[in-house]
Amino acid sequence: MKKKYDGIEDIEMHYLDEPEKHLGSISVPIYQTSLFSRKTGNLGYQYTRINNPTIEVPEKKIAKMEKGDGALLFSSGMAAITAALMHLVNQHSHIVYVTDVYMPTEYFISTYLKEKFGVTSTCFHANDYEAFEAAVTEKTDIIYLETCVSNIFSIPDVERICNFAKKRGIKVIIDNTYATPIFFNPLELGADVVIHSCSKYIGGHSDIIGGVLISDHDTVEAIRHGERGLYGACIDPHQAWLVLRSLRTLDIRMERHMQNGITIARYLEQSPYIEKVIYPALESHPQHEYAESIFRGYPALFCFVPAGGEEKAKLLFSHCEYPEKGPSWGGFETIMNSPGFSIDPIRREKTGILPGQIRISIGLEDTDRLIEDFEQAFNKTYR
Ligand SMILES: *Cc1c(COP(=O)(O)O)cnc(C)c1O
Repeated sequence: MKKKYDGIEDIEMHYLDEPEKHLGSISVPIYQTSLFSRKTGNLGYQYTRINNPTIEVPEKKIAKMEKGDGALLFSSGMAAITAALMHLVNQHSHIVYVTDVYMPTEYFISTYLKEKFGVTSTCFHANDYEAFEAAVTEKTDIIYLETCVSNIFSIPDVERICNFAKKRGIKVIIDNTYATPIFFNPLELGADVVIHSCSKYIGGHSDIIGGVLISDHDTVEAIRHGERGLYGACIDPHQAWLVLRSLRTLDIRMERHMQNGITIARYLEQSPYIEKVIYPALESHPQHEYAESIFRGYPALFCFVPAGGEEKAKLLFSHCEYPEKGPSWGGFETIMNSPGFSIDPIRREKTGILPGQIRISIGLEDTDRLIEDFEQAFNKTYR
């Protein structure tokens, strides 16, 4: 695994604190204001849809963590994704994207942009580089990746794809929500735009919806006044302040998530009631070596397939009492979801999601509590 990010704590905790600018306040205040007075002279702020000190501090911290020139916060991850795509797309575009990308993103690329503007697209399995090259056409001008596709856990070869794209003038957008800036920085490998949903690990407390986009200076400034300014999906100061609050602990939360994730994944992998665990952190994952070569750590999101088929999986799922049940992930709480239950056969065929496959996001709790709960659920399901 790659070495821990040097100096990350300084960026999280103290970078741009500047209490002298805020009456000595240790925590950057919430500038709950829509506009800034011109009578005070030009201090760099005008209107909160464009910029605001409470929004700017977490933006600059995230930009530094991702090794980009600048960042923009949005009201949601989808707002950041659609802003990035609308900035780069034109009516003749062809977009190449990874199979089983986040579902609303898939809908936006394959249906919304197609029906509204005639934009075409082709998807490829993230781990299949040959399929990627085969998907690119003369018209391709955008490649849309995810660091690790969250139900099937396949990882694109970001560096190779970006090298290929650069030679052809194709722009690469990557959704790095999975890894967070703590574990992976795609701009270093040649990506043009990185986006995150702050509703997952960056927020981390299951209490905010937010998004962020990181890129070079010109792209960020163009989107600030273009897609963010025009569509208006800006973040509000209070929400931005919650992102800032969360950033201070992102690195230690990710460390704990990783320890807990690996503990539970290994426990499940040795259980006779579990057929398969799908997690890049484990040696059993087909891309484990590649993951080790690019990541500084692993988030605690993975899938497992209970033994005995889909009916047993449904029973086990219902007998698990301690974890939350629901679709999101990346919060303090362990939460389970069931992408492999009653799945549409076409999607199953296309993605390779297995019958009975369960997805789990391991939280920050004591893993003994989770293991005890799995034990009682195994007892009820299999004995
Ligand atoms: C949740 C999620 C999003 C969307 O983020 P919102 O903040 O819910 O709009 C985008 N990409 C990935 C990978 C996600 O998990």
